[in-house]
Amino acid sequence: MGAQVYADLVILGGSVYTFNARRSVAEAIAIKGGRIIYVGSIDEAKRYVRPGTEIIEAKGRSITPGLIDTHAHLAMWGLYSTRYIDLSYPKVDSIKKLVEVVREGASKRDKGEWILGRGWNHALYPEGRQPSRWDLDQATEAHPVFLWHTSGHMAVANSMALKLAGIDERTRDPVGGVIERDERGVPTGVLVEKPAIDLVARIIPKPSIDEWVEAITYAMKEWVSEGITAVKDPTVHGYSIDIIRAYQEVRRKGSQILRIVALYWAQSLEELRRGYDIVERSRDSWLRVPGIKIILDGALSTKTAWISRDYRDSPGNRGLPTLDIKEFREMVLEASARGYMVSVHAIGDIAIGETIAVYEEAVKRHGASGNIYTVIHFMLPEEDHIHRLRSLGGYAEIQSGFIYFLADAYYKNLDTDMYSRILPLRSMVERGLTICNGSDAPVIPYPPRYGIYAAVSRQSSRGLDINPGEGIDVEHVLATYTSEAAKCLGMEDLIGSIENGKLADLVVWDRDPMSIGDPKELLEMKPLYTIVEGKIVYRRQ
Ligand SMILES: [Zn+2]
Repeated sequence: MGAQVYADLVILGGSVYTFNARRSVAEAIAIKGGRIIYVGSIDEAKRYVRPGTEIIEAKGRSITPGLIDTHAHLAMWGLYSTRYIDLSYPKVDSIKKLVEVVREGASKRDKGEWILGRGWNHALYPEGRQPSRWDLDQATEAHPVFLWHTSGHMAVANSMALKLAGIDERTRDPVGGVIERDERGVPTGVLVEKPAIDLVARIIPKPSIDEWVEAITYAMKEWVSEGITAVKDPTVHGYSIDIIRAYQEVRRKGSQILRIVALYWAQSLEELRRGYDIVERSRDSWLRVPGIKIILDGALSTKTAWISRDYRDSPGNRGLPTLDIKEFREMVLEASARGYMVSVHAIGDIAIGETIAVYEEAVKRHGASGNIYTVIHFMLPEEDHIHRLRSLGGYAEIQSGFIYFLADAYYKNLDTDMYSRILPLRSMVERGLTICNGSDAPVIPYPPRYGIYAAVSRQSSRGLDINPGEGIDVEHVLATYTSEAAKCLGMEDLIGSIENGKLADLVVWDRDPMSIGDPKELLEMKPLYTIVEGKIVYRRQ
């Protein structure tokens, strides 16, 4: 065997973690035509070598399937990186610093041009409050300024931007959103939840398809350097069609270096139906648009996720649904009747319960086969929810990296009982629920190593514990980025494990995540090579 068939690429002498059903470990791989043709011993793999076969000597390092981020706004991240000022922590660690950075950004732009930024996180600022329009006015009064909070569920605008949007004392809060005000009733510039944020966001000039293409191309190049080989992008509300067109353009140009599964994001029945032309049943391994995303509640860091008890220090506030429940149910049932993948953002226990109930109804009506149902975030499930999601064949689309970056805000906003229930990974594993991991970038940084570390250690970047008993081992965390994650994309027949016949998406790492001493070392793991469909798309210099 192996005598007649020659490989394009052979990887020799590593710990090959296959993530096949038996989770077996091999020492070499041969690849031809973008597919894996052999997994096993070094001696056998060498028989596929001919002059011209590229050989990677792994020298005992570890090899895993390419990592899959099952929930990340890659296109938006790219746009942020190419067009927005980075306000993320620790680069910006105070309101004072935020003002400085915005002032500097404004100095490079013509008067009247929008100054856009993202990623501020006041939970980590010494001032102990949100930035306001008056802070931003100190940076510039000659440009409209609009800055997104790291959660994406809050933003702050300066006085000029508020004026352009027509927001003043007389403006009433839109349904589902809050225009924050001072004790005199004057808007502070802080806008909470989409309906309020949109009052300003909708007047900012839309990016062109070319700008999205540039953003996507930039992002893909960056992301493969962290071992990511496939991404499920739920796109951005109001921009879904433009983003999907841009992905199609990138695919057409042949410049795609990682796989994309994009979802059309709808928040009403009418909007859902407008997307029917763009959702498609393609079997293309590079780009698929198999279904929809809906957001049902807010976020914990902004006290807007829909939960069963009051937020800490906020009597009466239990968050809120972001759309009418009846309409939400109709949307899910209509989409599932069309055979779509349905992914619903549900963080609070009440939102999760509502989502699972409608999924159960959809399965009852339309059968389980073919459809994929995921609950995005799944932060505060009850035990019963875990059991029911598994029983209906659905998946938890979680982001363990939230623990690392956002735990401090959760701690501040939730009572002790709620806080200790966040993201019960071990309970999910023990009950056999499929867990698909991801970053939700740009909500937090995209590198999977943060999520890998946090799922094991259950610690935030500042050492705060969250429910340490709910940690899982490194091998299972890696499964949530590979073999399990592939199911969330509906691509487990093609990717997610290193097996004969599968597409050759692989990472050769600079260390072995399975045999490290201090879990903190996981934060440092980096690829030496990232390979997509047999092509080296990243090579560490
Ligand atoms: Zn998201």
